[in-house]
Amino acid sequence: MGKATDKELIVNGRRLDGREPYHMREIKMSVDEISSANGSAKVSFGKTTAYASVHGPRSLFPKFLQESDTGILRCRYNMAPFSVDDRKSPGPDRRSVEISKVIRRAFEPVLFLEDYPKSTVDSFIEIVEADGSTRVTGINALSMALASAGIPMKDLVAACSVGKISDTLIVDLNGVEDNNSESDVGVAMMPQKDIVTLLQMDGILTKEELVMLLNLARESCKKIYQIQKQTLMEKYRGAE
Ligand code: ADP
Repeated sequence: MGKATDKELIVNGRRLDGREPYHMREIKMSVDEISSANGSAKVSFGKTTAYASVHGPRSLFPKFLQESDTGILRCRYNMAPFSVDDRKSPGPDRRSVEISKVIRRAFEPVLFLEDYPKSTVDSFIEIVEADGSTRVTGINALSMALASAGIPMKDLVAACSVGKISDTLIVDLNGVEDNNSESDVGVAMMPQKDIVTLLQMDGILTKEELVMLLNLARESCKKIYQIQKQTLMEKYRGAE
């Protein structure tokens, strides 16, 4: 990340997987994948696949963790050991602790946590296959898992990655692109309210490039939002 490479990542205007610069990978979404959860979802962007599950709101124990005037959101992002080619050592590391924290903060603005004093909403993101952009894929899944759990939300959260490779601005970085990018930017937003809830950037961009990438991210998040909405509507249509 943030380092240039000798490898040609764009050939004749196409990326190595055949995509045009602004195209996302094939997106698949489904809900209610985990029966023991109050809400769950599975989201894939190409090979990158995330499951999210939501449990609660439920009473928070031990009691000293409780907040008397609000509920809290807990979030754990984890990459399975088999999710990457070289086995990843299991358990939390600095990266997953940081990602868990930024994901929690990306969702706090959309929930009415003050309606659940002394309670917690527990959320888990498991990356079962990692080929770039795992945090944003996990965010898309968690957004749908929260909605599917029936937790009132001000808006969904939609997320995507944008970046720069071989001097070209691109959308939805895969693993090779992520590891060889000049810059990569993760964006999550509330698509109806047009509010950004996560923005992280690695590498170097000019101000103009960043503005252009943010506009691309915004357009892409709106497309992702449409698929999220469609998937959730199908769930409720199926229940009629
Ligand atoms: P994100 O997945 O959100 O883009 P990073 O930029 O930290 O987060 O990671 C980029 C990509 O690098 C991941 O999607 C994954 O494909 C790969 N990766 C991350 N951590 C590891 C690891 N421990 N071992 C092997 N590959 C990894």
